[in-house]
Amino acid sequence: MTIGDASPARLRRDLLAHLPGSTLDAVERIVAAGAAHGDVYAVGGAVRDFLLDRSVVDVDLVMECDAPAVTYAALPDAKILAHTRFRTASVTIGGVRIDVATARDETYARPGALPAVAPADINTDLRRRDFAMNAIALRLSGGPALLDPCGGIDDIAARRIRVLHDASFRDDPTRIFRALRYAARLDFTLDPHTADLLAQSVHYIDAIGGERLRREIELMIAEPAAGAALEAAQRAGALQVAHPALTWDSGRSEALADPVVPRVPLLPYGFALLAAGSSPDDAPLIVARLKLKRDEAAAVTAIASMRKVAQTLRRPDAKPSGVVLLLDRFPLAAVSAHAAIEPDTIARRLALRYLEEWRHIKPALNGEQLIELGVPAGPQVQRALQLLRAARLDGWATDRDDEQALALRFAKSIRDSADAKAQIELNLN
Ligand code: ATP
Repeated sequence: MTIGDASPARLRRDLLAHLPGSTLDAVERIVAAGAAHGDVYAVGGAVRDFLLDRSVVDVDLVMECDAPAVTYAALPDAKILAHTRFRTASVTIGGVRIDVATARDETYARPGALPAVAPADINTDLRRRDFAMNAIALRLSGGPALLDPCGGIDDIAARRIRVLHDASFRDDPTRIFRALRYAARLDFTLDPHTADLLAQSVHYIDAIGGERLRREIELMIAEPAAGAALEAAQRAGALQVAHPALTWDSGRSEALADPVVPRVPLLPYGFALLAAGSSPDDAPLIVARLKLKRDEAAAVTAIASMRKVAQTLRRPDAKPSGVVLLLDRFPLAAVSAHAAIEPDTIARRLALRYLEEWRHIKPALNGEQLIELGVPAGPQVQRALQLLRAARLDGWATDRDDEQALALRFAKSIRDSADAKAQIELNLN
């Protein structure tokens, strides 16, 4: 279906037919409950993505009446999350998130502040949105109708991102990240005037609260087109305003798309890549500015302090056990980021071998077996395990027999030194 030939009736039928059965049932219930008080519309991403022939991942509904009350009435048994300040409700059914909002107007007291909201009609609600392509509404109650007061359909056809007024990025600088994210994801370009406004507004990112800023960067990292989005944010200067020690380049894009460790935690890994050029002094400032979550903060702190161990990791004769001792202390996300972008060939190779091979090498014997071989229960068992692991890593134990021989020698040396100590004490007394 091309955008031009889509009648509102057909769009409505096809959009709804696209939804899983249980989601469709929930949407129909909400529409029926809302229709008693006013019109109900599908808006935003669902309409945009549908017009683009992309799969719809969530559904945004807007109604000119109290959305949380309608949602509770329509789905009395569902787990609904309501937000009283914005009069919104959200519920996930059939794996699809349904966001239900009361049509509203927004005003911004200052750049980056959360808006003051007031109930409004659907056209006003569309005009307060971020971009024209996201300001299209498809009526789901009564007769079908397509509302496009800002020219969103033309923009989608032209693959263009356009703000709705000149103060848009200043009012809400998170829209800068949104614009770059959509451009990368949808392969759209910024309309020239929007691009100028964005360039002039980048400094307002300073006014975004920590959590909202972190969320925007998390969304960028989680995008399928994350690399392109982050490179655009770097070019626009948006990352530097977020924090001057954050940086991105094409090498990081490749590292993010294809991590050395396939299941590395994505967000900590992305933040470690972003902070890989930072110093240990920068790390706490980045963590505080972006109000990073615990695992993200740990990855950023680790990558910044890995500079200190970099010297050791640049030695071609470094022993595997020494490398493991150093790198085991750091979260996987940080070591993976380090291995991906470290410029020194030797250090990079050592980190890669650690990730792919050495970190998995463990002794064949376990603690209980060591005790049976004569290692005293307690902290010596841990020491013996470390010794065996180092022996395996450095090649002086290659099988279970070698480990047993080492464990016996270790146990004997403890006994001998205990005997010697007892003898000294005996002599002293
Ligand atoms: P995605 O596929 O990324 O979820 P989406 O369009 O559904 O895209 P949401 O973040 O779920 O994006 O927002 C839903 C709608 O709310 C948007 O389409 C847009 O109309 C509006 N919106 C979201 N954030 C803003 C914002 N910061 N300023 C103005 N309007 C916004």
